[in-house]
Amino acid sequence: MIAVLVINSGSSSLKYQLLDPATETVLAKGLIERIGQPTGSMEHSTTGGVWRSEPPTPDHHVAFRAMTAAFDEHGPVLAEVGLTVVGHRVVHGGARFFAPTVVTPQAEHDIDELAEYAPLHNPANLAGIRAARTAFPDVPQVAVFDTAFHQTMPPEAYTYAIDAAVAERYRIRRYGFHGTSHKYVSERAAAFLGVPLEESRLIVLHLGNGASATAVRGGRSIDTSMGFTPLQGLVMGTRSGDLDPAVVFQLARFGGLDLDELDELLNKRSGLLGLTGTGDLRDVTAKAAAGDTAAQVALDVYCHRIRHYVGAYLAQLGGADAIVFTAGVGENSTIVRERSLAGLGELGIAVDPARNAAAERGERRISSDGSRTQVLVIPTNEELEIARQAVSAV
Ligand code: ADP
Repeated sequence: MIAVLVINSGSSSLKYQLLDPATETVLAKGLIERIGQPTGSMEHSTTGGVWRSEPPTPDHHVAFRAMTAAFDEHGPVLAEVGLTVVGHRVVHGGARFFAPTVVTPQAEHDIDELAEYAPLHNPANLAGIRAARTAFPDVPQVAVFDTAFHQTMPPEAYTYAIDAAVAERYRIRRYGFHGTSHKYVSERAAAFLGVPLEESRLIVLHLGNGASATAVRGGRSIDTSMGFTPLQGLVMGTRSGDLDPAVVFQLARFGGLDLDELDELLNKRSGLLGLTGTGDLRDVTAKAAAGDTAAQVALDVYCHRIRHYVGAYLAQLGGADAIVFTAGVGENSTIVRERSLAGLGELGIAVDPARNAAAERGERRISSDGSRTQVLVIPTNEELEIARQAVSAV
């Protein structure tokens, strides 16, 4: 059996999954939250049950030990399973990493250096790598980067039109994120359509708390909506997405906000949260249905932005075999799927209302039979993709 432990170590949380990517069997999974606070909350589940606890979680190392203790206590016992590899989600790989990478001292040094671009994420990812190495010194650790899939973008897609020397010096360019999900979903979508991946043209809409759109041609990302950081592009739970950069100058000059406050405003207090007071799309939808004007506007802005990128990517791809919805909102929100693609019949895109509203869960087609471009819902599975990539690297 191949046993892969997938670690997603965030700034205040640790998500993990033990799985066999060959059979797609999940043996255990868990989540530890509130890392950095004395007491955290933990949930560990296996095929035998679910256990909740409140372990001490002052830092990532202690949280990691809580995870290994849960495996020892509730199973599966990792020493008995025999880990093949540990796969780590790493948010920013810059232009240095374009493939899953075995963590060597050099790779670790590079991930650390890239923390400049992702100050919240890369240090937390690295803390997970270090804790895993301490816990499993003989098991290879592989870093799988959110940015890697987008390294195939051509210069015209990743270059910002600013002073080239300044951009070069500070490595300012579009990197793109959610790559693991976009890769997995585009491969599943091509298989679902029965189109060879190399010939497929897809627009993937990953709509979760973070959200991004990617144009995928022949299984390769050719453009994506997130940019230098995950702040650009679509409207998200708490992030603004696209904005005229001059808004930042204005708020600094006349609003008296300093850089940290601006960063916080745009990353943590904008998007759906900024527009409505809640960053959760379910709540926004409920409020809109109850007649709340701010929520109705937010939903319109959210869908308008998706449509903007769909149009752009149809043009970049010269037409698409399918538009694919994934992640929390994409997989579940009938209204977002319907509104984002409404009235596009002239472009050969028609969502079938009954298929869209059906209470199905799996991979499915929601376009009408006459729709030239198919519309699909494909549940993402980042853990499985990380596990596969980790195995491929060792
Ligand atoms: P993350 O980016 O944190 O992994 P998810 O992919 O889980 O997030 O997506 C979270 C978003 O999905 C939230 O905005 C949530 O409201 C939305 N969501 C989850 N379930 C539903 C649902 N049944 N209907 C509409 N939106 C949903």
